[in-house]
Amino acid sequence: MKILADYDIDELKKIVSEMGQPSFRATQIFKWLYSGADFDGMTDLPAEFRKELSREYIAVPLTIAEKFVSKDGSVKFLYKYHDGNIIEGVYMPHSYGDTLCVSTQVGCRMGCSFCASGIGGLVRNLTAGEIAAQVIAVNGYLGGSAANRKISNLVLMGSGEPLDNYDNVTKFLRLVTNKNALDFGMRSISLSTCGLVENIKRLADEGYGVTLSVSLHATTDESRRELMPIAHKYTLAQITEAVKYYFEKTGRRIIFEYALVKGKNMSAFDCKRLREITRGYPSHVNLIKLNYVKEKGMQGCSDEEAKRFLQRLTEMNVSATIRRSFGNDVGGACGQLRRNYIAER
Ligand code: SAH
Repeated sequence: MKILADYDIDELKKIVSEMGQPSFRATQIFKWLYSGADFDGMTDLPAEFRKELSREYIAVPLTIAEKFVSKDGSVKFLYKYHDGNIIEGVYMPHSYGDTLCVSTQVGCRMGCSFCASGIGGLVRNLTAGEIAAQVIAVNGYLGGSAANRKISNLVLMGSGEPLDNYDNVTKFLRLVTNKNALDFGMRSISLSTCGLVENIKRLADEGYGVTLSVSLHATTDESRRELMPIAHKYTLAQITEAVKYYFEKTGRRIIFEYALVKGKNMSAFDCKRLREITRGYPSHVNLIKLNYVKEKGMQGCSDEEAKRFLQRLTEMNVSATIRRSFGNDVGGACGQLRRNYIAER
């Protein structure tokens, strides 16, 4: 079975014309897909045509398998795909607009030493439509439709490495920013990467203009290699060169993610290095208190220690904040819900 949500309007036009239908059907289908409708719900399409479509295609290939609503208003979701694969996502209400965290792969092959998503390696890439389906499902859960979107921002920070699934992720960006789909602005989408340098430059060259977040987590190549295998492939010098290029091409401020790991990356020397790494272009450092992952055994820090680190950075004129954490009362983060779900079955 093919997934109808994988196609853009031009491709849908070709599909409908091959089925003997006028091309405006493509826009109708597109709008329905992004409103979360299955074939039964596409009421302005001829019944016979809908039946014909459903013989060959799945409309939206995902259901919400479970949800966990937190006291703070955030909701964690477990989604189930048509092939049985499970991934997770989280919706976070912010005063400046609601954000949905989106996954781009089932599993991940980057193998970062603190992250639960990569424990079983990469299972498979998600297609553009499968990624979009997460947004469609949560928008529907919130009572939204294509014309009435209930989510303001997207962050590609769920499981997977988005730039390791480049073609599907960029197609996803084109799909969800389409006027007839969910009409997101590229500026309201953030893409987080462990730093795949060639694809950072490619993203800049191809003009997507999303906010780029780079998972830094260490300030020397040597210490970064201990945390992130990808640091064997790309140096911090290559990363800073790529993000400067990204800024020059897009005008977008660069965000660095920095998970505070006790005894690893919180020294005065790290502050100095962070200043050097982030100097000379608009940037911001998001400090994250590491989420404990039992298989990994690495420890985060206390609120006090995080505040002290932030204060040092601020004194050095490094733009930084501590990232607010959501949903602590409804289970793990970063791939742990999926692991628990699979382990229980
Ligand atoms: N692969 C991409 C995006 C997915 S991970 C990337 O590396 O950026 C999203 C963010 O969560 C990354 O910054 C990642 O390093 C961080 N992360 C992973 N495990 C974590 C943990 N246990 N605690 C805190 N942050 C974690």
